[in-house]
Amino acid sequence: MTTTEATATNFDLTEEQQQIQQAAREFARDAVAPLAQELDEKAEFPVDNYKQMAELGFLGLSIPEEAGGSGFDTLSFILVVEELSKVCGSTGLGYAAHISLGVTPIHLFGTDEQKQKYVPQLCKGVDDAGNLTLGCFGLTEPGAGSDAGGTKTTAERKDDHWLVNGRKAWITNPHYAKTCIFTAKTNQNPKDGKGITAFIAELDTPGFKVEAKEDKLGMRSSDTAQLVFEDMKLPLDAVAGGEPQVDVGFNKFMKTLAGGRISIGALALGIAEGAYQKALEYARQRKQFNKPIGTFQGVAFMLADMAMEISAARHLVYHAARLRDAGRDFAQAGSMAKLMASEVAMKTCTNAIQVLGGVGYTREYDVERMLRDAKLCEIGEGTSEVQRLVISRQILGDLRNV
Ligand SMILES: Cc1cc2nc3c(=O)[nH]c(=O)nc-3n(C[C@H](O)[C@H](O)[C@H](O)COP(=O)(O)OP(=O)(O)OC[C@H]3O[C@@H](n4cnc5c(N)ncnc54)[C@H](O)[C@@H]3O)c2cc1C
Repeated sequence: MTTTEATATNFDLTEEQQQIQQAAREFARDAVAPLAQELDEKAEFPVDNYKQMAELGFLGLSIPEEAGGSGFDTLSFILVVEELSKVCGSTGLGYAAHISLGVTPIHLFGTDEQKQKYVPQLCKGVDDAGNLTLGCFGLTEPGAGSDAGGTKTTAERKDDHWLVNGRKAWITNPHYAKTCIFTAKTNQNPKDGKGITAFIAELDTPGFKVEAKEDKLGMRSSDTAQLVFEDMKLPLDAVAGGEPQVDVGFNKFMKTLAGGRISIGALALGIAEGAYQKALEYARQRKQFNKPIGTFQGVAFMLADMAMEISAARHLVYHAARLRDAGRDFAQAGSMAKLMASEVAMKTCTNAIQVLGGVGYTREYDVERMLRDAKLCEIGEGTSEVQRLVISRQILGDLRNV
């Protein structure tokens, strides 16, 4: 028996999860894969594919129906991210960021008014004029990356509005976004905690600018840009969840990131699986010394390691998603899933290029794009070092208090 999937293990997906996985697989094969190389080369965002995803109900997939979403669980969302990422990491990244970082925090932490105002439109994904209405998330700043608490953006409370000034860096989706949930330091509780509050702003607010997109190594057809706030006035009720409370805004962002890490794990998993499938296919048909190269142990063992490591990563990613669906603590599991899947993706892509030899090193075969895309997974939503910090702090908790 042969299998092109890295693992034949039965993950006990429900019928509904299998259906959404199949729908995503077909969409990825028919609409995303044919454009992936070209859009990477042109660094062009796949607007039409997002519109199709909107029609398929993917853009509000894991948000409950009563809130305006499609009502699927976290694991279903993870399966969609994985399928998209098998063929195009950029699409997987923009999609994962929209749901995990753009919509979910408003759904989880917004006031009833904020939820009603924004969540259904974000889940719909397209407005009446046919423009995309994605969500974006502004935490990182030029001087505050891994140390996200180092936020310099300020929100000053005036009589009838907030006055926001600052800059956010490396933000995913802003050119196609309707809303941005972002952090700023307020003058309300500067002495207590970090004094960081979460705000929701519409992208067309005067004083809100999106600067030119970044020219990146990989994930080139995802949209990444800086946000600039110049005397941006927001209404007093723009604070996510209501009045600012000590550190609550910052903690909301940390919780959002914990959920987002599962989706970056799925992104990495998909890229790894995509590269593995390319290597497997090539090892079967490429002949040297009158034999398929897959018959050489040096090549076969690389494929065996890929299959094993992808399978292990998949277990961690699905497990973290299931913990979240069960309402259990998933922070450590999410960090482990993201860390492991990212490192597996890098190793798998490197070895996939090795299996393909010279052609793997060219733009003709998409494993080189996959390698460039995979690298982002070790950086975005907390670098690998930050994941090791999160995990080690949890396991050494008692020791840190000595
Ligand atoms: C394509 C892309 C999309 C992104 N999308 C978003 C987004 O939508 N929203 C958003 O807010 N951000 C986004 N980010 C930002 C991303 O989360 C940050 O790049 C990341 O958190 C790292 O921050 P930094 O780049 O400032 O690196 P730094 O924090 O400066 O880190 C540099 C190096 O130092 C290491 N390091 C730092 N501190 C420690 C420590 N305490 N111990 C050990 N090592 C340490 C890091 O691991 C890294 O290797 C995106 C980034 C990219 C590249």
